[in-house]
Order: sequence, then C-alpha cells, then structure tokens
Amino acid sequence: MQFETLAIHDGQAPDPHTGSVTVPVYQTSTFGRDSLDHRSDFFYSRIGNPTRKALEASLALLENGKFGLAFASGVAATMAALQVLKPGDHIVAGNDIYGGSYRIFEQLMKPWGVTTTYTESEATESYEAGITPATKLIWIETPSNPLLQLSDIKALGKLAKERGILLAVDNTFASPYFQRPLELSADIVVHSTTKYLGGHSDVIGGAVVTSDSAIHTTIKNYQGAAGAVPGPWDCWLILRGLKTLKIRMKEHEASAMHLAGMLERHPAVDRVFYPGLTSHPQHELAKEQMSGFGGMVTFALKDGLPAVERLIAKIKLFVLADSLGGVESLISSPAKMTLWALSKAERERRKCTDNLVRLSIGLENAEDLEDDLLNALEP
Ligand SMILES: *Cc1c(COP(=O)(O)O)cnc(C)c1O
Repeated sequence: MQFETLAIHDGQAPDPHTGSVTVPVYQTSTFGRDSLDHRSDFFYSRIGNPTRKALEASLALLENGKFGLAFASGVAATMAALQVLKPGDHIVAGNDIYGGSYRIFEQLMKPWGVTTTYTESEATESYEAGITPATKLIWIETPSNPLLQLSDIKALGKLAKERGILLAVDNTFASPYFQRPLELSADIVVHSTTKYLGGHSDVIGGAVVTSDSAIHTTIKNYQGAAGAVPGPWDCWLILRGLKTLKIRMKEHEASAMHLAGMLERHPAVDRVFYPGLTSHPQHELAKEQMSGFGGMVTFALKDGLPAVERLIAKIKLFVLADSLGGVESLISSPAKMTLWALSKAERERRKCTDNLVRLSIGLENAEDLEDDLLNALEP
C-alpha cells in the first residue's frame, strides 16, 4: 500500500467497540482490571494508552519501521533515543543540528559522562574522522537546521555498521513522506511531531522509530520509567495530522520551490539554501535520498542584520515565530531566535550568520506569499 493509504488506515481501524471511524480519545489515567491475576493490554496510561498506541503504530508504519514510540516533545524523544548510550560513550554529531539537541548533548549528557564531537554535517569523511574507540552513536539531522545541509544517510549507515555503532537521524525537516532513513540503513529515527507530522501548530510532541527490537525495548522501558509521554488528546491531534501529511508536504514543497527560485533571483539576497535548487551543493544527494525537498527555505541577505530587521518589520503574512511545519507561514532569524542560546563563537562555528532568514512555507497561496516577500524586501 502507498504512503497516504497507510497514513489514513493502518493502525487506525474503526473502533472495535463502537465503529467510530476516528480513534477515540481515551482520556483515562487507568483501566479497570478483571481480576487480581489478570493484567490486560492497558492498565495505566503512562505505560500504555489506546490512543497513543494507535499513534505509535501509525508512526512506525509511515517510517517503514517495526516499532514506534510517542513522547511529550521532540526533545523528550531525543533524550529517550540517547538511552542506548551509557557513561563513557561518545557521540559524533553534525554541526548544524537543532539547538535543543546541542543543549541536550552539552548540558544534560556531558555531566553524565557522554561526550560529543561535532563535525561538518555534509562530509561523511568528517564523521569518520570524529570516531574514537568510545564512539557508540552518529547523530545527524538531514536536512539540517537552519542551513538545510544534507548528510548522506546511506553512506553513514554503512560506516556505522562497519564500526559497530548506531546511526540516529532526526527526520523532522523532511518528514517520512519525503525521506525514510530506516530504509537507507539508519538504526533510529527521531521526530519532533510538533512540526510537519502534527502540521497545524497546535501540539507539542515527539517520536522515536526503530526496527531493532533490542533498541526498542531499551527506549520503551525508558518511556515507561521516565514518563515523558503525550496525553491522549495530543496523540489524537497528531494522528489527525498524519492523515493529510502527503497533501500538505506536496503543497509546502511546491510553494517552497517557487519562493526559493524567486529569492535566488532577487537582488537583495546573497544566497538561498534549499535542497531543491540545482545551486544547492548537495542537490544530487537530495534527489537520491529524498523524494521531495520539503517546505523550509533559508536565505542570506546582502545587507546583514539591518536588512533582516527591515524585512521582518515589513512582512505581513509570515508570522514572526519559532517552530515550523504548520499551515501558516513563519519567518525567523536563526541567530536571534532558534539559536539565540548559543555563544557567538558557537554560532560562528556553525556558520549561523546574522544575515540569515529562515522561512517555514505554509499552505497559503504561493503568489500571496511571494507578493508579501517581494514587498517586504523592497529597500
Ligand atoms: C523542534 C525540533 C526538535 C525539538 O522538538 P520539540 O517538539 O520542540 O521538543 C528537534 N529537532 C528538530 C529538527 C526540530 O525542529
């Protein structure tokens, strides 16, 4: 079955008790037992809840994995995925990863004895050079945030296998509609379901998907023990989002492609970062490992931060906000917003310059968005 059919049907059969076409919101903390000796599938909602179970099954299917786990946020999912590590282990991560993942590695994992080396996101060799005898995990985000750099999932999966280490991919930007890392030999996929999977800027959530039962058991055990689980309503909202993922992603992409081309030709723009442009240094890799290029567009303005400030002051349809992946278009300054918590030196190392603007292209009419951008870019 094709992606959109799975997204609508699998893991979400009509409710066996009532025939309800949507999975009910099982708003309950606990479940009555038949007897002292018999514990049914569900007994306490931290450990398992039917609405969450439907979401977890659906997430696994869409990533073409065997096991899905849902979390209260993307960072909770990241923290959960890192439970495959123990003190003394080492991570090699891409440079251009989500600021919150960097914060987890540096502020939470480091004090517990797990260290991280950051390396050029685009170069498989640089990940290889970062590997030490203690390395247990390669962590990548592709396309990355905010520079939309790609890492070669297949090549890194091969490298990881040869070295007996694991490859985890944060697949938030591409979504499983455009990229399925497990099919390209990754071991673990992580999502912020807050973004495209939820798709409507109305819920915070995260997910981990794997096909390895030992990894799944470790992370599931952590989920039950540490408890950063999403409530049933949040699971329901994300399930609803999944059903329209394909049509939303196609539309996000068509508009992103149109606007990226316009920006590339605009005299105020120094450079556009979008994997769908032939000028993107990894456009060929994008065509190989993705079936579409996504809805995120980053660009650099020639006149630095003052030009960014002017643009943001004049723009009307794009909402100035963090986050991405919703129906409404958002605009942000990575240096002043999503990566504000990093030191200037760290931002410079990541090539996150002050003149960058990041767009999350929503589902408005592309020409309306173009007019808004053109008007705001007027000197
Ligand atoms: C937003 C985001 C996260 C964190 O997710 P939350 O749901 O905000 O906790 C992780 N990775 C990427 C790529 C993100 O965009």
